[in-house]
Amino acid sequence: MTDSLQRFLFEECDVRGEHVYLEQSYQDILASHHYPPGVAKLLGEFLVAASLLSATLKFEGSLILQVRGNGEVPLIMAEANSKQELRAIAQNAEQAISKDFHHLLGTGQLAITIEPRQGNRYQGIVSLDGDSLAECLENYFRQSEQLSTRLWISADGQRAAGLMLQELPSTEPNPAQWIHLSTLADTVSTEELLSTPTETLLYRLYHQDPLRLFETKGLSFKCSCTRARFENAIRSLGEDEINSILEEQNEIETHCEFCNRRYVFTGQDLGNISPDSNQATRH
Ligand SMILES: [Zn+2]
Repeated sequence: MTDSLQRFLFEECDVRGEHVYLEQSYQDILASHHYPPGVAKLLGEFLVAASLLSATLKFEGSLILQVRGNGEVPLIMAEANSKQELRAIAQNAEQAISKDFHHLLGTGQLAITIEPRQGNRYQGIVSLDGDSLAECLENYFRQSEQLSTRLWISADGQRAAGLMLQELPSTEPNPAQWIHLSTLADTVSTEELLSTPTETLLYRLYHQDPLRLFETKGLSFKCSCTRARFENAIRSLGEDEINSILEEQNEIETHCEFCNRRYVFTGQDLGNISPDSNQATRH
């Protein structure tokens, strides 16, 4: 199956849904790292969740899910933007042996950051009290947005898929309808979620509930790193530090942890325009 994101809306009640399936993009993201199975699975879940949540962005920008925990995975992060470009990383997770959500992440907080291309970034935080990423996100929507939201997420290191239902904001809640729709989705098994095309799955679940399908969108792995961003990071080290590295190594090499792309800067690249001297020449 191809990587896809599908929005749908129930015609007779104010509930929307998103379905996502990731295969190529997920495998591309895993390919440049050696993740243990539990970490690869968790990363897939984060990618699915970021894709589902980014689908609700109403502007150009990115949505980032991140946990800095005290479990076997010190840092995990997945990012999806409004062009359905994905990237993700688990840092220092090579030694992780667990497949359990809590053992992998420990205690801590899940940060949900929205970065509009223009305007202020917004960050929401929820504690990792739930037994799964889906449950933590459901808690987040209940606490912060007061929106009934359910997520079903599966990943197996090769494929990752997810389903989200959410009541539309500013509508009269209809608890009976909401329970009806989520109870049906609760019947989907992990394997079924990973192996069933969107339309088949939605028909199987909701053939008695009229729903409207929107345009299907493709998703892909694309890293947003740029040479300019790494150059800025190096410049922020300050002139002294930069000179001392250059004296030792002749050039400064960095690499992007998301895509493994290498960026090499010579003294000439960095010139004499460190932030300090740059300011000094500005009138
Ligand atoms: Zn990159």
